[in-house]
Amino acid sequence: MRDRPGIVIVGAGHGGFNAAAALRQEGFDGHITLVDRQTGLPYQRPPLSKGLLKTRESTDALAFRPESFYAENRIDLRDGVSVTEIDRQGRSVGLSDGGILAYDHLILAMGAKTRALPVAGASLDGVHELRIAADAERFRMAIAAAQTLVVVGAGFIGLEIAATAAALGIAVTVVELADRVLGRSATPHLADFVANVHRDNGIRLVLGAGVAEIGGAGGRATGVVLENGERIPADLVLVGIGVVADGDLAVRAALGTEDGILVDEMLLTDDPAISAIGDVARFRHAESGQSFRLESVQNAVDQAKCVAARLTGHPRPYDKSPWFWSDQGNLRLQIAGLSGDADAFVPLGDPDTGKFSVLCFRGDRLVAVESVNRPADHIAARQILETNRPLSLEDSKKADFSLRDYAKSLRAVT
Ligand code: FAD
Repeated sequence: MRDRPGIVIVGAGHGGFNAAAALRQEGFDGHITLVDRQTGLPYQRPPLSKGLLKTRESTDALAFRPESFYAENRIDLRDGVSVTEIDRQGRSVGLSDGGILAYDHLILAMGAKTRALPVAGASLDGVHELRIAADAERFRMAIAAAQTLVVVGAGFIGLEIAATAAALGIAVTVVELADRVLGRSATPHLADFVANVHRDNGIRLVLGAGVAEIGGAGGRATGVVLENGERIPADLVLVGIGVVADGDLAVRAALGTEDGILVDEMLLTDDPAISAIGDVARFRHAESGQSFRLESVQNAVDQAKCVAARLTGHPRPYDKSPWFWSDQGNLRLQIAGLSGDADAFVPLGDPDTGKFSVLCFRGDRLVAVESVNRPADHIAARQILETNRPLSLEDSKKADFSLRDYAKSLRAVT
């Protein structure tokens, strides 16, 4: 006999936790089991590379909700247990503790795992990565005793950590293979501004440089050796070169995967009893027909809500406009939309004041807005991008154009 089937969720990060919470909010009355291989209450990731490193606060403070929430909402949290296999025919999952959980519907929310640096010395003591709370706790202890840090990778997480470490008085060098920072996610306008601010704050940026190896002595890292032969001494090395979707479980279950678990506009895999959300899911965007795998809190949370709505009888395609933020020292960077294939840019405000936005257009259509310390622009940009009447290039060039006023005018029309 099937043991209390219902909905099983694999992974209790931003996607999995919010799927469980949204299912209850939407009135789902069946059994919900939320499984995570990490021990403890599910928690938020963004502070791990930001505020947390400056404090002595326990990572327990990052929990989404207290323990009582799970009992009150009848969410059966199984922490410290991995899902090791999916039996699609029998509609059950196998657990690392030998248990088996039957499901009517399975939600895969395994997130992503850090990309390893494929060079000699990468596993020496003193070489860190940052994905989970335990990583952040280890890194925070190590940084308290360090004087020099090399960060490998100038993406969001690498630069957040570099800014925090520099503010703590540590000599920081950032090494990046590409010839600019934030190459994957920001326009050169934003990236160049951010790079200059970090340089002004004493961070050395070494761009267009590959790491040949991490040098060490007595099992401990002592520095990074670049492909051009330069040796940069360091007490600590932080590797932040991106993540890969944690989709092994889906591959073993023969679900469609291609840099992530493939899902349709409804976030369903090619098995109608299995959905996938968050960092691990590559979804088809209903309007553009393009496929995306996004790594952000907004994406995980909104996809969780979308699946919960479908499973409680309110199906709709996933069509949210993405947004993202990053705090680096005194910079609050906020990005609404995706600027990847933008071909025209309109600046708003003066970068010299430390507060400005960049409007990014593809043809005549606004596709993204990057903002630095202009949160009201960001909110307005999200509102504009969510409507079917996005801003045109021509309108944005009018004298005294304001994103906030434009968003207000759209609200007045609707
Ligand atoms: P996750 O939150 O990673 O959760 C996946 C969970 O699945 C994990 O808890 C993992 O233990 C569990 N799991 C995996 N496999 C199994 C298995 N087989 N069995 C059981 N459990 C399993 N995004 C932003 O928008 N803004 C930010 O400022 C920002 N900062 C970040 C800072 C850091 C340090 C990190 C690591 C990420 C940051 N992100 C940020 C990205 C954001 O946290 C992720 O996009 C988001 O967590 C994705 O949610 P998810 O549920 O898909 O995956």
